[in-house]
Amino acid sequence: MYAKNIWKDINPEKTTKIYDFCEGYKNFISVAKTERLCVQETLSIVKENGYKELKEFNSLKPGDKVYVTNKNKNIALFLIGNKHITEGIRVLGAHIDSPRLDIKQNPLYEKEEFALLDTHYYGGIKKYQWVTIPLAIHGVICKKDGTNISVNIGDDESDPVVGISDLLIHLSADQLKKTANVVIEGENLDVTFGSIPLKDKEKDAVKANILKLLKEKYDIEEEDFVSSELEVVPAGKARDYGFDRSMVAGYGHDDRACAYTSFKAILDIDTPEYTACCILVDKEEIGSVGATGAQSLFFENTIAELLALTGKTNYLDLKHAMTNSKMLSSDVSAALDPLYDSVSDKKNNAKFGYGIVFNKYTGSRGKSGSNDSNPEYVAWVRNIMDSNNIHYQTSELGKVDQGGGGTIAYILANYNMNVVDAGIPVLNMHAPMEIASKADIYEAYVAYKAFLTK
Ligand code: MN
Ligand code: MN
Repeated sequence: MYAKNIWKDINPEKTTKIYDFCEGYKNFISVAKTERLCVQETLSIVKENGYKELKEFNSLKPGDKVYVTNKNKNIALFLIGNKHITEGIRVLGAHIDSPRLDIKQNPLYEKEEFALLDTHYYGGIKKYQWVTIPLAIHGVICKKDGTNISVNIGDDESDPVVGISDLLIHLSADQLKKTANVVIEGENLDVTFGSIPLKDKEKDAVKANILKLLKEKYDIEEEDFVSSELEVVPAGKARDYGFDRSMVAGYGHDDRACAYTSFKAILDIDTPEYTACCILVDKEEIGSVGATGAQSLFFENTIAELLALTGKTNYLDLKHAMTNSKMLSSDVSAALDPLYDSVSDKKNNAKFGYGIVFNKYTGSRGKSGSNDSNPEYVAWVRNIMDSNNIHYQTSELGKVDQGGGGTIAYILANYNMNVVDAGIPVLNMHAPMEIASKADIYEAYVAYKAFLTK
């Protein structure tokens, strides 16, 4: 059903399904605040659902449930279908990294008897949104002896939170003359980490006390920050949003809303015709780079491994499998914001409550950087939506030349497979608190299931 509001023709049974599904989603994003935590959390859920690691298989048959992880920051799930993999697979791809502040490699310093942690922001953020809110730190510190220490500060009820200070309004005369992109400078996004000086220490006594506490709690030295991956993210859990509870407020809807709905979809289908796949990737917010980004050979290598388990090790078998595949690049889209409607072409912009949103193209300055999907493929996808009574809508990322953005769609399309962007509309994208409609989250899940089983 194209461009119709879900809530208008809903029955009580579907309402219950939507609300129940979103309880699970809220729990997921409240716990999975980094890509590592997303992989961990996804892994524990898929293992409960009978998924086994690729290396446990000697051969593959229809119905087998396979997972592969990559460097703790990627996970790929496969439900082997009745047709051979060389005939193509159905891929749902979403990213599990979200904009945040990363702790620098040499972060700890003392100034005016405060201990602070220096950060470098990750992904596109409005810096002024990240000050004076409760923040948490999640990640790992890897020691030279091979031990990995998990860090979680700020998301337990009993934990302290951290944060970034901003100038009081009373003394902001000069600051408020600056434009919004520099009113908070990137180099000023430093986390307040402590204020107690170590007794009998003359210089940098507060920093010394923090180092003492770090040694006691994590058994680390200052130098161990060099091999750490610590992410500063909003503290606290996802919540219902709106008096009618129709929405979810939380950190990281982009793109964990699509990641969650994608892997739930593959868990909830029976053995499909074509092998179903869900891949969750890292580094989308900084260009899909590196070993764990969508541009990595991880995905291609994994398909080669699967083919080998069916006795196919020929280069052309791999090429056929990729070319014959179809993909929904699952990523969030910008929802029409009633307070900022002037940046959107309303007849070509996603709206809350209208279901899964297809972006034939994204990009900026004349579709640059976009995967402009083939209309033949878009028609094929429309047919799946309509024949399953799924609410869907289409969108662009704002008015022409208003800005823009990209997704992982074009990267997988490089394998010559059909790909279209399909996801969930979001308000406040990349802000510490993003908003999504519960109806759209649920409808995306239903749409992903229909796509995998077509
Ligand atoms: Mn995204
Ligand atoms: Mn994004």
